[in-house]
Amino acid sequence: MAQAIAENTRVLIKNVTRKFGETTAVDSTNIDISSGEFMTLLGPSGCGKTTLLSMILGILDVSDGEIYFNSTRIDYIPMHKRDVGMVFQNYALFPHMTVEKNVEFGLEMRKVPKEERKKRVAEALELVQLGHLAHRFPKELSGGQQQRVALARAIVVRPKVLLLDEPLSNLDAKLRKDMRIQLKKLHQDLGITTIYVTHDQEEALSLSTKVAVMSFGVVQQIGTPKEIFLHPKNHFVANFIGYTNFFKGKFVSKDGDYLVFESEQKYKLKVEDDGIHQIGDEVLLTIKPENIKIMEEQAEFNSMKGKVIVSDYVGNTTGYEIESEYKEKVKVNVLGLESYLAGHEINLFLDPKNLLIINQE
Ligand code: ATP
Repeated sequence: MAQAIAENTRVLIKNVTRKFGETTAVDSTNIDISSGEFMTLLGPSGCGKTTLLSMILGILDVSDGEIYFNSTRIDYIPMHKRDVGMVFQNYALFPHMTVEKNVEFGLEMRKVPKEERKKRVAEALELVQLGHLAHRFPKELSGGQQQRVALARAIVVRPKVLLLDEPLSNLDAKLRKDMRIQLKKLHQDLGITTIYVTHDQEEALSLSTKVAVMSFGVVQQIGTPKEIFLHPKNHFVANFIGYTNFFKGKFVSKDGDYLVFESEQKYKLKVEDDGIHQIGDEVLLTIKPENIKIMEEQAEFNSMKGKVIVSDYVGNTTGYEIESEYKEKVKVNVLGLESYLAGHEINLFLDPKNLLIINQE
């Protein structure tokens, strides 16, 4: 079992902006990352994740704002004095050095004595289970093994903060899952404050203690994976984490424990009363494709007729694009092999408990 070697480091990103000419890559961003947190910056390509990470690392200056490690302001301190470990997407290993030398490099730079270096390199390689490959060169390793060398190289210097920029994206699907679990375990063992960049929502939800969802340089929502998943704050966050069906309208009445929603096309859907929304509120209702049921018969309420436009069979699930009777496109995923061909008429059931209310912006 590894020792917790991390110092307690809180990272505070305060009103940070970064511009490239006319482009604002990161816009007045505030993120407070507690010591020991695994914070993921999640968002689509170009939303500013790497720019933010690069400013924390020190390879990019901030245009405005401040970054602190605990009470020390670090945004104007040179990179090598920030004590940050970094794993890049392409690992950036030194090809002419063995695994051992790659991992030792940062310690040599810091003038750590030889005996201590040997001990710490061995410890770091042990942590990532690569002790037996210490004398190989990077080209003699698989992608997953190279990734682990990059991790060992980042943690051997006992950084205050560990930064990871899409470190799993070059691996195949199975290895990505295995490495995800190893990464999670390593974080639990070491307790280093970690900032992780990805556009993969599953990875973000599985690894993180907190997630910051970004769009166009702006943080849209910060929360635990559960909060983000169950209570996305707006259309962007909901859509990004897989709520792909949206219905626009307003609440028109109450019915027992339900609020009754009427869409712009005048169909009605019941949704569980959240105690927050009122009759008259203009909202979006959203539901995940996997939460819509295809029924033989029409349900008593929250039913919608539709016609299959296209079906997409992918192993144990089938995805359908349906055109509803209200001429809206609805996405549905069902488990199992049953398949409806294009043109087939079906009934959809939108269970009130799976419909989520989102405020219109
Ligand atoms: P990806 O997942 O594709 O790496 P990202 O979320 O990390 O995307 P950034 O690389 O931070 O996004 O880029 C944010 C915005 O800033 C983009 O519009 C990008 O084109 C722009 N940008 C980034 N670096 C530069 C640069 N050196 N010069 C000019 N514009 C840049």
